[in-house]
Order: sequence, then C-alpha cells, then structure tokens
Amino acid sequence: MKNESGEIQPGGWICANCGVPLELLPADAIYMGSSFQVDLPRCPACGVTFIPQELAEGKMLEVEKLLEDK
Ligand SMILES: [Zn+2]
Repeated sequence: MKNESGEIQPGGWICANCGVPLELLPADAIYMGSSFQVDLPRCPACGVTFIPQELAEGKMLEVEKLLEDK
C-alpha cells in the first residue's frame, strides 16, 4: 500500500507484521570479537528488531565505517 501524503521515516522501515513505522534504536552488535552499538530499526508494536540485509549478510564493514565517521 502506498502512502503518498504521509511522511516517509528516515530509512523507510515498516514492520511487515504490524504495518507501523519502525523506530531506530541502539542495539548491541558484535563484530570481530568486539561489541559496539548500532542503530537498528525496531518495531514499537511487536518489538521485533529488523536486521538490515547488509548486516545479515555479514557485511559489517559498512557499519564499522559508519561508526568511525561519528
Ligand atoms: Zn511489528
């Protein structure tokens, strides 16, 4: 369903179960034996955290680079 008048949240994540916009919340991630925090989209309704495909595929270098920019 298209929502042409509503604002699109940064990232544009929508929970497939609830159909509500996801909130970016800090989550613990572990890469190369060290843990760090990364903002992941989380559904405020059902609490499911969605892992971006890049993370799911193990391309954590992108995240690491983002963190270095901070
Ligand atoms: Zn949900």
